[in-house]
Amino acid sequence: MTLITLRKTSCVFLILGILVMSSISAQDSLITVTAQKGDGILSLLRKQGVNPYERYDDFIAMNMDNLRDSVHLYAGRTYKIPPITIDSVTVVDSIEKQAAEIKKIEGKSFSIFGEGKETVLPKSETLKGAVYYLVSGHGGPDPGAMATYAGKKIAEDEYAYDITLRLAKELLAHGAVVYIIIRDENDGIRDERILDIDHDEVAYPDKVIPLNQVARLRQRVDIVNELHRKHRGQFQRLIVTHVDSRSKGQNIDVFFYHHEKSKNGKKLAQSIHKTFQKKYKKYQPNRTYTGTFEDRTSLYLVKKTHPAMTFIEIGNIRNKKDQRRILDPENRQALAKWISEGVLLDFEGGEIGPIR
Ligand SMILES: [Zn+2]
Repeated sequence: MTLITLRKTSCVFLILGILVMSSISAQDSLITVTAQKGDGILSLLRKQGVNPYERYDDFIAMNMDNLRDSVHLYAGRTYKIPPITIDSVTVVDSIEKQAAEIKKIEGKSFSIFGEGKETVLPKSETLKGAVYYLVSGHGGPDPGAMATYAGKKIAEDEYAYDITLRLAKELLAHGAVVYIIIRDENDGIRDERILDIDHDEVAYPDKVIPLNQVARLRQRVDIVNELHRKHRGQFQRLIVTHVDSRSKGQNIDVFFYHHEKSKNGKKLAQSIHKTFQKKYKKYQPNRTYTGTFEDRTSLYLVKKTHPAMTFIEIGNIRNKKDQRRILDPENRQALAKWISEGVLLDFEGGEIGPIR
């Protein structure tokens, strides 16, 4: 209840924050805040009226020496809050004008992101004209890989879906057309560690997902290929996300696969891979990034779908070390953000291409 209220008003806070901080930054002082027990980066920024999804990277860059594993706060330590830039919004002097400004940056609303998360604030028009198909692994009667965490059962499909929604929101914010192929009308973006398992996901727009594996995969291939035909002549890409790993016994963070004959699919996979390498260097210099990037035409979706595509395996939900990364909502947000940056990189100078 409290959370919902907080988020509903976050848009207003953003504006008020801008008004307050613009006068503060004029005096050249930096806002600092002491983290309380239980604070995460998202909640800390939100409490300061800063949109956590927009300023996440800046926050990390400003406070790098003060973070555990590059993403966690220490209670009792003081953190710098990134100032909000004011290029388009100016300080207004009347309530009416303030209300008008609030409306102006409200953006579009998508109920699929869940209560309090519906609003997509525009960031750029970089991806205007591009069409993305996002498929999260499994769903419906098939939960994917299962594991137990703190006595609770967790399932791959819920985590893949949460990351996919976060990615969709990023791409929409940059002006893309996005199709969320596997969808759950009552699970929005969830800032929780344990995501409840359900089986009511459907395939775009509202098709029941069959249990039979081949039928299940064929269904999503058919949906994507039909949409691909409909958008003929446009820049189109497909991103499939899983949170398990086919490669047994390997200590590898993230896998990126593409169709061996697809030049554009390879470019997409490579662009996201490169972004991950860069991010690891920047935020986790002491950890070696061990993601791989390879062609893998043996996978059904890689082989059969028509848009140029990449198939991403973000760790393995069964792996204890990966669980830490996947269960933390802030990490899921960071992963989605990194994928989106790779997508933006891929779009630069990308070609429409024929099939694949
Ligand atoms: Zn999977």
